[in-house]
Amino acid sequence: MKIDIHDLANKSEVTFESEQAVSLLGLNLSSNAQSCLVSIAGTVTKKGNRYLVRGDIASTIKLLCDRCTNEFEYPIHEELYKEFSTDFNEEDEDIIHVTQSSIDLSDIIAEAVCLSIPMKCLCREDCKGICNVCGQDLNEHTCCCQNADIDSRLEKLKNIFHPQSEE
Ligand SMILES: [Zn+2]
Ligand SMILES: [Zn+2]
Repeated sequence: MKIDIHDLANKSEVTFESEQAVSLLGLNLSSNAQSCLVSIAGTVTKKGNRYLVRGDIASTIKLLCDRCTNEFEYPIHEELYKEFSTDFNEEDEDIIHVTQSSIDLSDIIAEAVCLSIPMKCLCREDCKGICNVCGQDLNEHTCCCQNADIDSRLEKLKNIFHPQSEE
């Protein structure tokens, strides 16, 4: 997404609003989502050679829940705040140099999307997951395996702490 900064020759601020498709292929998502459509709105403020971009991005990404493996929609809201400069003598590493007559926001939008993806993907805070014995989605129904499963785990622990005392 590019913002024309010619418009800033005569004024100090412009607003923008747009949509951009962002590729999700490099992010190794467990879902097969390949891209998401990001809406972005904000302002560019000119201060001398600098252009300050402030905005908000919003999107929805399809993710797979780490516990129950169901696909769910994860809403994204991030703030953008970035300075650009046409002065190549500026050495601040947080500032992106721009040569042309426009500012390209594609990279910082893609970066913001990447940063907003959670380390742990859960369809909801209290997702109960699936039973690892019978495969039942425990959000839908409970099953009878749970107790047996806990018992077998306790059995293993007992063996660890008292290796000779069992069987
Ligand atoms: Zn889940
Ligand atoms: Zn079960």
